[in-house]
Amino acid sequence: MCCIFTTFNEQAQEPSMNTERISKITIPNFHVVIVAAGCGLRFDKNSPKQYQCLLEKSVLRYSIEAFLKLETLQSLRVVINAQHEHFYSEAIQGLDLAPFVLGGAERSDSVYNALKSLSGLKDDEIVLIHDAARPLICMSDIAALLIAMNEHDAATLAVPVVDTLKYSNSEQNSVERHGLWAIQTPQAFRYGVIKKAHEQAKTGKCYTDDTGLVVDCGVPVHFVKGSKRNFKITEKEDMAFAENILSANLLTEHRTGTGYDVHRFDDSSRDVHTLKLCGVGIPHFKNLKGHSDADVGLHALTDALLGAIGEGDIGLLFPPSDPAFKDMDSAVFLQKARDLVLVKGAKIVNVDVTLICEVPKIGPYRQSIVKRVAEILDITPDRVNVKATTTEGLGFTGREEGVAAQAIATVCFSTKSGDV
Ligand code: MG
Repeated sequence: MCCIFTTFNEQAQEPSMNTERISKITIPNFHVVIVAAGCGLRFDKNSPKQYQCLLEKSVLRYSIEAFLKLETLQSLRVVINAQHEHFYSEAIQGLDLAPFVLGGAERSDSVYNALKSLSGLKDDEIVLIHDAARPLICMSDIAALLIAMNEHDAATLAVPVVDTLKYSNSEQNSVERHGLWAIQTPQAFRYGVIKKAHEQAKTGKCYTDDTGLVVDCGVPVHFVKGSKRNFKITEKEDMAFAENILSANLLTEHRTGTGYDVHRFDDSSRDVHTLKLCGVGIPHFKNLKGHSDADVGLHALTDALLGAIGEGDIGLLFPPSDPAFKDMDSAVFLQKARDLVLVKGAKIVNVDVTLICEVPKIGPYRQSIVKRVAEILDITPDRVNVKATTTEGLGFTGREEGVAAQAIATVCFSTKSGDV
């Protein structure tokens, strides 16, 4: 048993929106069985739904991690399909879990296999049974269910039915919805109760959940009002709903950096050269001078990205005194900055670069430049903008002594918030 202060939501429909009360509650110790043995190929023939990726991890992993957050958890068993071992290994990478249990032909067979694997439990210990396809189960609902088990031998999360119900093939009036509840998981049972219910299950009867089994044994099931967000992923659109809910729990922060660079033309060059501007070769009678390939546009962009993530500047990462960078393709510098953005857990939102020069003319190469920069940064071209301007004959660019570039880059950091 564990006494904790926690947030318990009586309404439980929208945890973040309802009135909450803080109370001292007692959450009993418990074991959990997560049923993930279904084929689940309805919306993807190659990957069962419990192994589909929701944002950054699998449906199953969300379900597992929801229970791992509770310190009164004593053991966790996942029941899987014998054909899904490779999916399972990938889904639980980095988690320290007990060996999986192989499922059976029907859901009730899978649960029974898991119960048999828990044979060391005492009859009054609490076992929760949860469908892996409900990844949005939240800690407060699990806690509420466990608290109910202080006074009951069987309990389930459930939500009142609010829609009008009719049989599609009937002329009858609507089904009376008063008193109707939609049953969710997890469901909680005393180990002795649920094990006996499975042992005595009526042969040939189809049980879609475990409350049906214990009711057949005469054990009443207490309903605990759950959250609508704990829906079962069944159709493909359910994945989109789940992603929207998870995204709403992400806190995003945008950061911006700027870059500026200048390279002069090499007056000693006489022939037509191909100078590099933003990764694209542009014929011009003078080359740009520099230790690397002197790509002034990519240097400004690199600095802008490094600025956005607080990583100094291009000179710190690639000192011009280092012979290793002699004549280096500046795409390498920009790729390094891109990699650092990813390592920091951020994503590039957009970049914008302005090339400032009288010559060469940039216009004919603008589309090629956008494409190349997008390619280097591994982002879509709509996130890249390239502009060019002159200085009306003024200053060093006006005297055609060199090319300047300025750039701005925005990146987005996402962090998780709340109980998801
Ligand atoms: Mg430079």
